[in-house]
Amino acid sequence: MLSTGLVWDERLMWHNPVGAGPLSAGGWVQPGQHAESAEGKRRIKNLLDASGLSSHLTQVHAREATREELLRIHAASYLDRLARDSEGSGGDAGDGHSPFGPGGLRLAALAAGGGLAAVEAVLGGAVGNAYVLVRPPGHHALADRGMGFCLLANGALAAAHARAQGAGRVAIVDWDAHHGNGTQAAFLGDPSVLTISLHQDAVFPPGSGGVAESTGDNINIPLPPGSGAGAYEHAFAAVVLPALRRFAPDLVIVACGFDSAGMDPHARLMLHSDAYRALTAELMAFAQGRVVAIHEGGYHEASVPFLALAVVETLAGVRTGVEDPFLANMAGPAGQELQPHQSAAVERAAAAAATAYAP
Ligand SMILES: [Zn+2]
Repeated sequence: MLSTGLVWDERLMWHNPVGAGPLSAGGWVQPGQHAESAEGKRRIKNLLDASGLSSHLTQVHAREATREELLRIHAASYLDRLARDSEGSGGDAGDGHSPFGPGGLRLAALAAGGGLAAVEAVLGGAVGNAYVLVRPPGHHALADRGMGFCLLANGALAAAHARAQGAGRVAIVDWDAHHGNGTQAAFLGDPSVLTISLHQDAVFPPGSGGVAESTGDNINIPLPPGSGAGAYEHAFAAVVLPALRRFAPDLVIVACGFDSAGMDPHARLMLHSDAYRALTAELMAFAQGRVVAIHEGGYHEASVPFLALAVVETLAGVRTGVEDPFLANMAGPAGQELQPHQSAAVERAAAAAATAYAP
Protein backbone atom coordinates (compact mmCIF):
# COMPACT_ATOMS: atom_id res chain seq x y z
CA MET A 1 0.00 0.00 0.00
CA LEU A 2 1.35 3.42 -0.95
CA SER A 3 1.91 5.92 1.81
CA THR A 4 0.22 9.26 2.37
CA GLY A 5 2.06 12.38 1.26
CA LEU A 6 2.19 15.55 3.30
CA VAL A 7 2.92 18.98 1.92
CA TRP A 8 4.25 21.31 4.61
CA ASP A 9 6.52 24.30 4.19
CA GLU A 10 7.43 26.58 7.07
CA ARG A 11 7.62 29.55 4.70
CA LEU A 12 3.87 29.34 4.15
CA MET A 13 3.37 30.23 7.79
CA TRP A 14 4.95 33.58 6.96
CA HIS A 15 2.08 34.68 4.74
CA ASN A 16 1.02 37.81 6.59
CA PRO A 17 -2.56 39.01 6.23
CA VAL A 18 -2.06 42.11 8.34
CA GLY A 19 -4.99 43.83 10.05
CA ALA A 20 -8.14 43.55 8.03
CA GLY A 21 -11.82 42.97 8.39
CA PRO A 22 -14.00 44.38 11.13
CA LEU A 23 -11.11 44.58 13.61
CA SER A 24 -8.74 46.55 11.41
CA ALA A 25 -6.97 49.60 12.76
CA GLY A 26 -9.15 52.69 12.58
CA GLY A 27 -12.27 50.87 13.72
CA TRP A 28 -14.00 51.15 17.08
CA VAL A 29 -12.16 48.50 19.09
CA GLN A 30 -8.61 47.27 19.48
CA PRO A 31 -7.42 45.75 16.17
CA GLY A 32 -7.31 41.98 16.20
CA GLN A 33 -5.27 39.37 14.44
CA HIS A 34 -6.57 38.34 11.02
CA ALA A 35 -8.62 35.15 11.28
CA GLU A 36 -6.53 33.38 8.66
CA SER A 37 -3.39 33.13 10.77
CA ALA A 38 -0.57 30.63 10.87
CA GLU A 39 -1.43 29.47 14.37
CA GLY A 40 -4.01 26.80 13.59
CA LYS A 41 -1.94 25.32 10.77
CA ARG A 42 1.22 25.17 12.85
CA ARG A 43 -0.76 23.34 15.54
CA ILE A 44 -1.88 20.78 12.98
CA LYS A 45 1.75 20.15 12.06
CA ASN A 46 2.62 19.98 15.75
CA LEU A 47 -0.02 17.33 16.34
CA LEU A 48 0.97 15.28 13.27
CA ASP A 49 4.50 15.25 14.71
CA ALA A 50 3.65 14.81 18.40
CA SER A 51 1.22 11.97 17.68
CA GLY A 52 3.85 10.08 15.69
CA LEU A 53 1.70 10.18 12.54
CA SER A 54 4.32 12.18 10.63
CA SER A 55 6.66 9.18 10.72
CA HIS A 56 4.11 7.30 8.60
CA LEU A 57 3.86 10.11 6.02
CA THR A 58 5.98 10.86 2.97
CA GLN A 59 7.06 14.46 2.66
CA VAL A 60 6.06 16.04 -0.62
CA HIS A 61 7.92 19.28 -1.25
CA ALA A 62 5.97 22.34 -2.29
CA ARG A 63 7.31 24.33 -5.20
CA GLU A 64 6.22 27.67 -6.56
CA ALA A 65 3.59 27.27 -9.25
CA THR A 66 4.88 28.82 -12.47
CA ARG A 67 3.18 31.74 -14.19
CA GLU A 68 2.11 29.37 -16.98
CA GLU A 69 0.47 27.08 -14.44
CA LEU A 70 -1.28 30.01 -12.74
CA LEU A 71 -2.54 31.26 -16.12
CA ARG A 72 -4.57 28.04 -16.46
CA ILE A 73 -7.03 29.64 -14.02
CA HIS A 74 -6.01 33.26 -13.44
CA ALA A 75 -5.94 36.34 -15.65
CA ALA A 76 -2.54 37.78 -16.56
CA SER A 77 -3.65 41.25 -15.44
CA TYR A 78 -4.52 39.89 -11.98
CA LEU A 79 -1.18 38.13 -11.62
CA ASP A 80 0.56 41.33 -12.73
CA ARG A 81 -1.27 43.34 -10.08
CA LEU A 82 -0.45 40.83 -7.36
CA ALA A 83 3.18 40.86 -8.47
CA ARG A 84 3.37 44.65 -8.37
CA ASP A 85 1.87 44.91 -4.87
CA SER A 86 3.82 41.91 -3.69
CA GLU A 87 7.10 43.48 -4.73
CA GLY A 88 6.10 46.60 -2.79
CA SER A 89 4.60 46.77 0.67
CA GLY A 90 1.78 44.30 -0.03
CA GLY A 91 -1.88 44.87 -0.77
CA ASP A 92 -5.26 43.19 -0.95
CA ALA A 93 -6.24 40.55 -3.48
CA GLY A 94 -9.59 42.12 -4.16
CA ASP A 95 -12.32 42.33 -1.51
CA GLY A 96 -10.62 44.01 1.44
CA HIS A 97 -10.57 40.68 3.31
CA SER A 98 -7.67 39.12 1.46
CA PRO A 99 -4.61 41.10 2.45
CA PHE A 100 -1.03 40.06 1.91
CA GLY A 101 2.35 41.41 2.82
CA PRO A 102 5.57 41.83 0.85
CA GLY A 103 6.33 38.66 -1.08
CA GLY A 104 2.67 37.60 -0.86
CA LEU A 105 2.40 36.40 -4.45
CA ARG A 106 5.41 34.12 -4.13
CA LEU A 107 4.00 32.60 -0.94
CA ALA A 108 0.59 32.12 -2.55
CA ALA A 109 2.29 30.53 -5.57
CA LEU A 110 4.15 28.23 -3.17
CA ALA A 111 0.86 27.23 -1.54
CA ALA A 112 -0.72 26.57 -4.93
CA GLY A 113 2.41 24.72 -5.97
CA GLY A 114 2.01 22.48 -2.94
CA GLY A 115 -1.20 21.25 -4.48
CA LEU A 116 0.48 20.74 -7.84
CA ALA A 117 3.30 18.76 -6.22
CA ALA A 118 0.77 16.58 -4.41
CA VAL A 119 -1.10 15.93 -7.66
CA GLU A 120 2.15 14.92 -9.35
CA ALA A 121 3.06 12.61 -6.45
CA VAL A 122 -0.34 10.91 -6.42
CA LEU A 123 -0.80 10.60 -10.19
CA GLY A 124 2.83 9.48 -10.53
CA GLY A 125 2.38 6.77 -7.92
CA ALA A 126 4.94 8.13 -5.46
CA VAL A 127 2.22 8.26 -2.80
CA GLY A 128 -1.30 6.89 -2.64
CA ASN A 129 -2.99 10.07 -1.47
CA ALA A 130 -1.93 13.35 0.10
CA TYR A 131 -2.77 16.12 2.53
CA VAL A 132 -1.70 19.60 1.46
CA LEU A 133 -1.31 21.71 4.58
CA VAL A 134 -0.89 25.14 3.06
CA ARG A 135 -2.04 28.73 3.42
CA PRO A 136 -3.33 31.12 2.19
CA PRO A 137 -6.48 29.15 1.26
CA GLY A 138 -7.86 29.18 -2.28
CA HIS A 139 -11.46 28.17 -2.94
CA HIS A 140 -12.93 31.70 -3.09
CA ALA A 141 -10.30 33.10 -5.47
CA LEU A 142 -11.64 34.00 -8.91
CA ALA A 143 -9.79 34.31 -12.19
CA ASP A 144 -9.27 38.03 -11.83
CA ARG A 145 -9.48 38.72 -8.08
CA GLY A 146 -9.00 37.19 -4.72
CA MET A 147 -11.60 37.14 -1.98
CA GLY A 148 -12.36 35.56 1.38
CA PHE A 149 -8.70 35.34 2.49
CA CYS A 150 -7.84 33.57 -0.81
CA LEU A 151 -5.30 34.84 -3.35
CA LEU A 152 -4.87 31.96 -5.79
CA ALA A 153 -7.32 29.13 -6.52
CA ASN A 154 -5.30 26.28 -5.01
CA GLY A 155 -7.84 23.51 -5.64
CA ALA A 156 -8.79 24.63 -9.14
CA LEU A 157 -5.13 24.97 -10.07
CA ALA A 158 -4.51 21.45 -8.75
CA ALA A 159 -7.40 20.10 -10.82
CA ALA A 160 -6.17 21.90 -13.94
CA HIS A 161 -2.72 20.48 -13.30
CA ALA A 162 -4.13 16.97 -12.97
CA ARG A 163 -5.85 17.40 -16.32
CA ALA A 164 -2.59 18.62 -17.86
CA GLN A 165 -0.88 15.56 -16.36
CA GLY A 166 -3.29 13.27 -18.15
CA ALA A 167 -6.12 12.71 -15.67
CA GLY A 168 -9.28 12.45 -17.76
CA ARG A 169 -11.80 13.41 -15.09
CA VAL A 170 -11.23 15.24 -11.82
CA ALA A 171 -13.79 15.72 -9.06
CA ILE A 172 -13.50 18.45 -6.44
CA VAL A 173 -15.51 17.94 -3.25
CA ASP A 174 -15.57 21.06 -1.06
CA TRP A 175 -16.72 20.61 2.55
CA ASP A 176 -15.48 23.98 3.78
CA ALA A 177 -18.36 25.77 5.51
CA HIS A 178 -18.42 28.42 2.79
CA HIS A 179 -19.32 28.09 -0.86
CA GLY A 180 -16.46 27.15 -3.16
CA ASN A 181 -17.42 29.90 -5.57
CA GLY A 182 -14.01 30.24 -7.17
CA THR A 183 -13.74 26.54 -7.90
CA GLN A 184 -17.27 26.54 -9.30
CA ALA A 185 -16.50 29.49 -11.60
CA ALA A 186 -13.24 27.97 -12.83
CA PHE A 187 -14.84 24.91 -14.40
CA LEU A 188 -18.39 25.92 -15.37
CA GLY A 189 -19.10 24.24 -18.69
CA ASP A 190 -16.07 21.96 -18.45
CA PRO A 191 -17.36 18.37 -18.33
CA SER A 192 -13.94 17.03 -17.34
CA VAL A 193 -14.10 18.58 -13.86
CA LEU A 194 -17.05 17.94 -11.53
CA THR A 195 -17.27 20.47 -8.70
CA ILE A 196 -19.37 19.75 -5.62
CA SER A 197 -19.70 22.16 -2.70
CA LEU A 198 -21.41 21.44 0.61
CA HIS A 199 -21.71 24.62 2.67
CA GLN A 200 -23.86 26.55 5.07
CA ASP A 201 -26.61 28.21 3.05
CA ALA A 202 -25.96 31.81 2.07
CA VAL A 203 -23.06 32.69 4.35
CA PHE A 204 -20.11 33.51 2.13
CA PRO A 205 -19.87 34.82 -0.47
CA PRO A 206 -23.24 36.50 0.17
CA GLY A 207 -25.92 35.10 -2.13
CA SER A 208 -23.55 32.52 -3.60
CA GLY A 209 -23.89 28.75 -3.76
CA GLY A 210 -27.61 28.16 -4.14
CA VAL A 211 -29.08 25.12 -5.86
CA ALA A 212 -30.05 27.33 -8.80
CA GLU A 213 -26.34 27.50 -9.63
CA SER A 214 -26.11 23.71 -9.99
CA THR A 215 -25.43 22.69 -13.58
CA GLY A 216 -24.42 19.59 -15.45
CA ASP A 217 -20.96 19.71 -13.92
CA ASN A 218 -21.41 21.72 -10.73
CA ILE A 219 -23.44 20.67 -7.70
CA ASN A 220 -24.23 22.95 -4.78
CA ILE A 221 -25.56 21.52 -1.53
CA PRO A 222 -26.44 24.47 0.70
CA LEU A 223 -27.27 23.23 4.19
CA PRO A 224 -29.19 24.99 6.98
CA PRO A 225 -27.28 26.28 10.00
CA GLY A 226 -26.99 23.56 12.63
CA SER A 227 -26.35 20.78 10.14
CA GLY A 228 -24.19 18.05 11.65
CA ALA A 229 -22.99 14.55 10.92
CA GLY A 230 -26.45 13.26 9.98
CA ALA A 231 -27.07 15.99 7.42
CA TYR A 232 -23.65 15.54 5.82
CA GLU A 233 -24.00 11.74 5.71
CA HIS A 234 -27.39 12.14 4.04
CA ALA A 235 -26.00 14.67 1.57
CA PHE A 236 -23.19 12.29 0.71
CA ALA A 237 -25.53 9.30 0.34
CA ALA A 238 -28.19 11.15 -1.66
CA VAL A 239 -26.11 13.49 -3.81
CA VAL A 240 -22.32 13.36 -3.55
CA LEU A 241 -21.65 9.63 -3.80
CA PRO A 242 -24.16 8.96 -6.63
CA ALA A 243 -22.69 11.86 -8.61
CA LEU A 244 -19.17 10.55 -8.10
CA ARG A 245 -20.29 7.07 -9.17
CA ARG A 246 -21.71 8.51 -12.40
CA PHE A 247 -18.69 10.70 -12.98
CA ALA A 248 -16.04 8.03 -12.19
CA PRO A 249 -13.20 10.45 -11.45
CA ASP A 250 -9.53 9.63 -11.97
CA LEU A 251 -8.65 11.90 -9.04
CA VAL A 252 -10.62 13.37 -6.15
CA ILE A 253 -9.53 16.73 -4.75
CA VAL A 254 -11.02 17.73 -1.40
CA ALA A 255 -11.29 21.41 -0.52
CA CYS A 256 -10.74 20.51 3.10
CA GLY A 257 -12.08 23.26 5.29
CA PHE A 258 -12.69 22.62 8.97
CA ASP A 259 -14.90 25.65 9.56
CA SER A 260 -17.84 23.26 9.09
CA ALA A 261 -17.08 21.92 12.59
CA GLY A 262 -19.05 22.64 15.72
CA MET A 263 -16.73 25.10 17.40
CA ASP A 264 -15.75 27.23 14.44
CA PRO A 265 -16.44 30.97 14.79
CA HIS A 266 -17.06 31.55 11.07
CA ALA A 267 -20.07 29.31 10.48
CA ARG A 268 -22.82 27.50 12.34
CA LEU A 269 -22.39 23.89 11.32
CA MET A 270 -21.74 20.94 13.64
CA LEU A 271 -19.27 18.45 12.16
CA HIS A 272 -16.73 16.75 14.42
CA SER A 273 -13.63 14.61 13.99
CA ASP A 274 -15.47 11.29 13.61
CA ALA A 275 -17.69 12.83 10.92
CA TYR A 276 -14.68 14.08 8.92
CA ARG A 277 -13.17 10.61 9.36
CA ALA A 278 -16.25 8.96 7.84
CA LEU A 279 -16.58 11.45 4.97
CA THR A 280 -12.90 11.02 4.08
CA ALA A 281 -13.25 7.23 4.00
CA GLU A 282 -16.26 7.50 1.70
CA LEU A 283 -14.31 9.59 -0.83
CA MET A 284 -11.38 7.16 -0.72
CA ALA A 285 -13.63 4.59 -2.40
CA PHE A 286 -13.28 6.55 -5.67
CA ALA A 287 -10.43 7.01 -8.14
CA GLN A 288 -8.66 3.98 -6.68
CA GLY A 289 -8.14 5.99 -3.54
CA ARG A 290 -6.33 8.83 -5.29
CA VAL A 291 -7.41 11.68 -3.00
CA VAL A 292 -5.60 15.00 -2.62
CA ALA A 293 -7.01 16.96 0.33
CA ILE A 294 -6.05 20.65 0.22
CA HIS A 295 -6.43 22.65 3.41
CA GLU A 296 -8.93 25.53 3.27
CA GLY A 297 -10.68 27.23 6.22
CA GLY A 298 -10.90 26.29 9.89
CA TYR A 299 -10.48 28.98 12.52
CA HIS A 300 -10.90 27.40 15.96
CA GLU A 301 -7.23 27.00 16.66
CA ALA A 302 -7.55 24.59 19.58
CA SER A 303 -9.78 21.99 17.94
CA VAL A 304 -8.78 22.18 14.27
CA PRO A 305 -5.63 20.05 14.78
CA PHE A 306 -7.73 17.10 15.96
CA LEU A 307 -10.04 17.44 12.96
CA ALA A 308 -7.09 17.41 10.59
CA LEU A 309 -5.53 14.49 12.44
CA ALA A 310 -8.72 12.50 11.84
CA VAL A 311 -8.56 13.17 8.09
CA VAL A 312 -4.84 12.41 7.77
CA GLU A 313 -5.16 9.27 9.92
CA THR A 314 -7.92 8.08 7.61
CA LEU A 315 -5.92 8.84 4.47
CA ALA A 316 -2.91 7.01 5.94
CA GLY A 317 -4.86 4.09 7.39
CA VAL A 318 -3.17 4.68 10.75
CA ARG A 319 -4.76 5.30 14.16
CA THR A 320 -2.31 7.02 16.47
CA GLY A 321 -4.28 6.46 19.64
CA VAL A 322 -4.63 10.21 20.20
CA GLU A 323 -8.12 10.91 21.50
CA ASP A 324 -9.86 14.06 20.29
CA PRO A 325 -10.52 15.98 23.52
CA PHE A 326 -13.24 18.00 21.76
CA LEU A 327 -15.17 15.06 20.31
CA ALA A 328 -17.58 14.61 23.22
CA ASN A 329 -18.43 18.31 23.26
CA MET A 330 -18.89 18.49 19.50
CA ALA A 331 -20.66 15.16 18.86
CA GLY A 332 -22.74 15.10 22.03
CA PRO A 333 -25.21 17.97 21.65
CA ALA A 334 -28.66 17.15 20.29
CA GLY A 335 -29.18 17.79 16.60
CA GLN A 336 -26.35 15.74 15.13
CA GLU A 337 -28.89 13.39 13.57
CA LEU A 338 -30.59 14.39 10.32
CA GLN A 339 -33.41 16.90 10.89
CA PRO A 340 -36.46 17.16 8.62
CA HIS A 341 -35.60 20.64 7.33
CA GLN A 342 -32.05 19.48 6.61
CA SER A 343 -33.38 16.47 4.73
CA ALA A 344 -35.59 18.79 2.69
CA ALA A 345 -32.58 20.94 1.81
CA VAL A 346 -30.69 17.87 0.64
CA GLU A 347 -33.66 16.75 -1.47
CA ARG A 348 -33.75 20.17 -3.14
CA ALA A 349 -30.04 19.86 -3.91
CA ALA A 350 -30.56 16.32 -5.19
CA ALA A 351 -33.35 17.45 -7.50
CA ALA A 352 -31.23 20.30 -8.87
CA ALA A 353 -28.33 17.91 -9.34
CA ALA A 354 -30.39 15.21 -11.02
CA THR A 355 -29.11 16.25 -14.41
CA ALA A 356 -25.54 16.66 -13.20
CA TYR A 357 -23.03 14.70 -15.10
CA ALA A 358 -24.80 12.50 -17.57
CA PRO A 359 -21.92 10.68 -19.26
ZN1 LIG B 1 -14.55 28.65 4.90
